[in-house]
Amino acid sequence: MLKDADSAVPVACWSCSVQHDEVTMFCPHCGKIQPPPGGDYFSVFGMEPRLNLDLAALEGEFHRLSRRLHPDRFARATECEREWSLADTALLNDAYRTLKDGLRRTEYVLTLHGAGNGTHIGSGFETQIAEEQNGKERQNASRAPADLLEEVFDLNMQLEEMRLRRQSGNVDRQSGKVNRELIEDLRAAKRKFETLREEVDRDLRGAWNDWDGGAADTRRRAQTNLRTLLDRRRYLSNLVRDVSEALGE
Ligand SMILES: [Zn+2]
Repeated sequence: MLKDADSAVPVACWSCSVQHDEVTMFCPHCGKIQPPPGGDYFSVFGMEPRLNLDLAALEGEFHRLSRRLHPDRFARATECEREWSLADTALLNDAYRTLKDGLRRTEYVLTLHGAGNGTHIGSGFETQIAEEQNGKERQNASRAPADLLEEVFDLNMQLEEMRLRRQSGNVDRQSGKVNRELIEDLRAAKRKFETLREEVDRDLRGAWNDWDGGAADTRRRAQTNLRTLLDRRRYLSNLVRDVSEALGE
């Protein structure tokens, strides 16, 4: 599914036999449905790989292709065509979900260029992303960005204190000043991490521009930068989630 778009070779349409080298779900000559094409997710929509993507154009093309692939249109087609309409639809949906979301799109571009996190080339890109976003075991102090080590250490102490108080039932009684201070500290920590995450989002947009507009070496530097930013963002999101849970928010 993630074959290199540059390696596209002419394929002959199964129906009219005319050769074409487009990444397309429909024959450019006779319009008949084709098996799921190779090439990347961008090529599904006839788009160049870009991080600043035209989302309105993406959505328009998604709906246009969805309608064209609708199973009702293939009710009286051959069995192959019916199967391809389902397979093409699955590919279209995966591609759309991945590209419409800025973070997934960035992760995908890094995967295409060998700078992903190294575990998911080939298939199941969607599943991989979902697992990462649900995975709670990733919170690991050893992976804390260097500039956050001290704050993460303090936070873990506060979270542990919160857990102990909950276990002993102290927190529910709101027993005085100490509890309020701890809660205030946790809220302040959450705001801090949210602010840092907003900074990461700004930096990500800057790196998108570098990647889109850059020559090869600028692109490579942007990819390294994007990888670091995505990891940092994931780390901060986990912190925000942990604090929210501790606060019961
Ligand atoms: Zn054809």
